Amino acid sequence: MPAPRPTIAVVGAGPAGLMAAETAARAGAAVRVYDRMPTAGRKLLMAGRGGLNLTHSEPLARFLPRYGAAAARLGPIVEAFTPDALRAWSEGLEQPTFIGSSGRVFPKALKASPLLRAWLARLAGLGVEFRLRHRWTGWSADDALVFEAPGGASVTHRPQAAILALGGASWPRLGADGGWAAILRRRGIAVNALGPANCGFAVGWSAYFRGRFAGTPLKRIALAFRGRAVRGEAVVTASGIEGGAVYALSAPLRDAIAAEGRAEAELDLRPDFAAEEIARRLAAPRRKLSLPNFLRKTLKLPPVAIALLREGPDGAFPATPEALAARIKAVPLTLVATGPLERAISTAGGIAFDELDADLMLRKLPGVFAAGEMLDWEAPTGGYLLQACFATGAWAGGAAVAWARRAARSP
Ligand SMILES: Cc1cc2nc3c(=O)[nH]c(=O)nc-3n(C[C@H](O)[C@H](O)[C@H](O)COP(=O)(O)OP(=O)(O)OC[C@H]3O[C@@H](n4cnc5c(N)ncnc54)[C@H](O)[C@@H]3O)c2cc1C
Repeated sequence: MPAPRPTIAVVGAGPAGLMAAETAARAGAAVRVYDRMPTAGRKLLMAGRGGLNLTHSEPLARFLPRYGAAAARLGPIVEAFTPDALRAWSEGLEQPTFIGSSGRVFPKALKASPLLRAWLARLAGLGVEFRLRHRWTGWSADDALVFEAPGGASVTHRPQAAILALGGASWPRLGADGGWAAILRRRGIAVNALGPANCGFAVGWSAYFRGRFAGTPLKRIALAFRGRAVRGEAVVTASGIEGGAVYALSAPLRDAIAAEGRAEAELDLRPDFAAEEIARRLAAPRRKLSLPNFLRKTLKLPPVAIALLREGPDGAFPATPEALAARIKAVPLTLVATGPLERAISTAGGIAFDELDADLMLRKLPGVFAAGEMLDWEAPTGGYLLQACFATGAWAGGAAVAWARRAARSP
């Protein structure tokens, strides 16, 4: 008699849950995926709007430290499902990838929909069942998974092992709302506070600046904070500033605001020029040009950058070429609050790693595994987020099947 197939439930149909489902199904399990939304992978599709930065091409020795304090736990998991393995997997779905100039890896299609479509077809071919519009609400008294089904009906399911992949709490309208944190805490599991990561910040712009420039990109700038400078782009918002360069420094900026109520950063509006070169250009005769026009012509500064130079308390340009050059290289930017979690790219905090064994199984809930953004790790943008979600999903999927098989063999 062949052994019966292990039964696995995956709760959450994002990249982590779908990868867990694929891995478990390939290992021979009967897999059922639940999600509260009407369709799978909504945040993955949203990530696709920015080109779908799947992973990064840098060597693992540089890649893994991006996970900061969680690198020790995520290291073996990413080593088991590397950026190259992720690229090969994408290729297997007929979505070949390329390495962009920054080393980031994208599918050639620069969107998520063809990849997700092919992936869901593959999962269907592997026999994975979907129960959409099913919101997980916790466990019954006898430890079955409980879902609220369409129409409000309560549905229970008792698989041999379950994988929770419910995501973080940013962009809740895409499905992940962090509601699982209260459910797990009720079971005595430590969930570190969910907060924004890769987020924007509030800045006290003048009414003029906000009204004129909200939504305007700041291209080819550098943002500096406490000795670290990041080149990239940012966007002025009505309440402050967001964008790649800001996200890259968002963890230390957020921590400084939490500790001191504000973070004093600096914007370099011409990172490719030294201050001396800027001062030399500014010392040239201005002829009949106004100073803003002169700045536009000699330094190619856009109106938003020129207005930023006057955002100081006196609303005036510094008087000398040297002082103006120094301001262009370091516009003071006081960040007074972290942007809302709802608009953050990702979530800091989550299930404490101490609660998870090496298989990503919850020590207090044998047979229940967790993967993806609901674990307590954070990383900058650059493909590190999806890489960790895919890798932890694959890890938990394989481990859950092995656990279910062992449990079935033991009396
Ligand atoms: C605008 C934007 C752009 C991004 N771009 C990138 C990028 O280019 N590269 C990158 O690496 N990362 C990017 N990210 C981050 C990346 O999308 C996430 O880290 C990733 O989707 C998290 O995967 P996950 O599977 O852990 O969770 P999710 O993708 O959030 O999936 C969790 C699933 O669980 C479901 N769920 C939640 N609660 C319940 C419940 N109670 N019952 C049933 N189902 C539930 C949700 O509906 C959801 O489908 C981006 C994020 C955003 C918001």
